[in-house]
Amino acid sequence: MSPHVVVVGGGHNGLVAANYLARFGMRVTLLEARPTLGGMAGRLEYLPGYLGAITNSPGSLEGRIIQELELARHGLRFVSPDVTLLQRMGEGLFVGWRDRDRVAAQLETFATGEAKRHRLLVERLDALGAASGLSLWEPPPSLQEALDRMPTAVRDEFRLVVLDGSLNDLLAESLRTDAAKSLMMMLALNGQLVSPDAPGSAMGLLMRPISRASSTEDVLGIGDAPLRGSVGLPVGSMSAIVDALARAAGEHGVQIRTNAPVVRLELAEHGQVTAVVLESGEQITGVDMVVSAVEPSRLATMLPSGALTEAATPEPPEGSAFKIALALDSLPGVAGAPEDVPLETLLSAQFRVAPDPAYITAAVEDGIAGRPSAKPIMWGLIPSLTSEGLAPKGKHLMSINVWHAPYRLGREYWREHGATFFGACLAQLEESFPGLQTRIEDARWFSPHDLEDEFGLTGSNITHGDMLPSQLLDGRPGTDFTRAARSMGIVVGGAGSWPGGYVTGAPGRNAATLVNKMVRSLRLR
Ligand SMILES: Cc1cc2nc3c(=O)[nH]c(=O)nc-3n(C[C@H](O)[C@H](O)[C@H](O)COP(=O)(O)OP(=O)(O)OC[C@H]3O[C@@H](n4cnc5c(N)ncnc54)[C@H](O)[C@@H]3O)c2cc1C
Repeated sequence: MSPHVVVVGGGHNGLVAANYLARFGMRVTLLEARPTLGGMAGRLEYLPGYLGAITNSPGSLEGRIIQELELARHGLRFVSPDVTLLQRMGEGLFVGWRDRDRVAAQLETFATGEAKRHRLLVERLDALGAASGLSLWEPPPSLQEALDRMPTAVRDEFRLVVLDGSLNDLLAESLRTDAAKSLMMMLALNGQLVSPDAPGSAMGLLMRPISRASSTEDVLGIGDAPLRGSVGLPVGSMSAIVDALARAAGEHGVQIRTNAPVVRLELAEHGQVTAVVLESGEQITGVDMVVSAVEPSRLATMLPSGALTEAATPEPPEGSAFKIALALDSLPGVAGAPEDVPLETLLSAQFRVAPDPAYITAAVEDGIAGRPSAKPIMWGLIPSLTSEGLAPKGKHLMSINVWHAPYRLGREYWREHGATFFGACLAQLEESFPGLQTRIEDARWFSPHDLEDEFGLTGSNITHGDMLPSQLLDGRPGTDFTRAARSMGIVVGGAGSWPGGYVTGAPGRNAATLVNKMVRSLRLR
């Protein structure tokens, strides 16, 4: 009989893992704690009639997963607005057109030669990603092994750019203007509690080059587009990705169970996992292997005491995410909007509130120091402009991700001061979108603790652990833990494992391919 694999956690990575496992011929049961699938990417009714997902951007989703799992056949479609990004810059506005020449023209208005410098920086990162020999899809080496494998010149460059050097060093060396630096800072530091002055803080810029170098085919046709969001937006919001994954899994016989929080994994005397116990007390027996697609410290709590040494036990990550959804009776204006571009065209893009490096740095430093940022960084989208049915007719949903609302301040703090922080966010948004506040009919916000309580997002860390070099490769979630779990027949496959967070699907695919290898090698013995 084919092996029975239980996937714990029905976020997008759990669903990706379940799909591949089923295609490898295994019997798969997927257990999700919440009533709905998809974790941070799953469908959410923010307010009556206003639908979306916590996440906005599919810019990290790996094309090969869409292709291999035939997600288009399962209903996943993308819409590609002409404008991909709006970012207020000091007094002006950066409009990220899909057309690369228009982007270059704007960079050039910041300072003569800035478009070329920006292109050279992107090319430098791409070359490093390709030469690093790192792959999203291969079992990750240790950082030292990765360095040892690199030719000397590549190793020196890798050290300079992403180990010893900081993001600010790289940007100071490469670019002249605050505007161009702000664009890159937002890509590098997305949701991380990492100072741009810290060694390793440019690592976020290398993940996409590594992704490009790892994939043989450009199945999404986005070429070497340097900006996130270039892939387009999923029709129906990010939850459309989850819906397609769930349909694909169903077609391949995955048994999907929601409202099924896992509390314990039972091990046999020889230490192998044999059963999964739900909060209801129900036991799922006859389990051959488990893929854990939950944040790693959660998995640790499911294991019998003594199963992990102290050194192997992962610490819960700490983060600073805050979420806002606004129900709007009409569209706001856009500060600094070019006169010849219709408002709807501009507002179809993702937007960022991060007007200059000083603003970004202050917000990050606040987050690191455990202070709620007075002027928070935000990423947002009005998904109802590009997908029908996400808001009542004529109305709109604005979905905003806010960083640097420290979880560390505690549940009580956020209960008491969450509304004030929400107000500070609105004040900043108003500067980018004049008239916004008068158009708000209703609103909902989630503090870092709400995100943990309602979505299982440990410590409100959006990537299940920061994306620093020391926490990537086999350091994610840690070799001792990975080895110990594997010896029990448990493979880690969520954002807390290589290649890390965001909606990529890569950790889920990697976990499934590893399980397949392990099962095959056992059969051969
Ligand atoms: C506000 C916010 C905005 C973001 N925006 C973006 C974005 O626009 N683009 C992007 O790429 N990334 C974004 N991210 C990051 C992204 O959401 C995560 O990195 C990604 O969703 C991780 O996927 P995952 O499947 O590994 O984990 P998750 O999405 O966290 O899913 C884990 C699942 O496990 C379930 N679970 C937990 N415990 C148990 C248990 N005991 N038993 C059973 N199930 C359990 C949870 O309910 C959840 O469904 C955002 C994150 C936040 C917080």
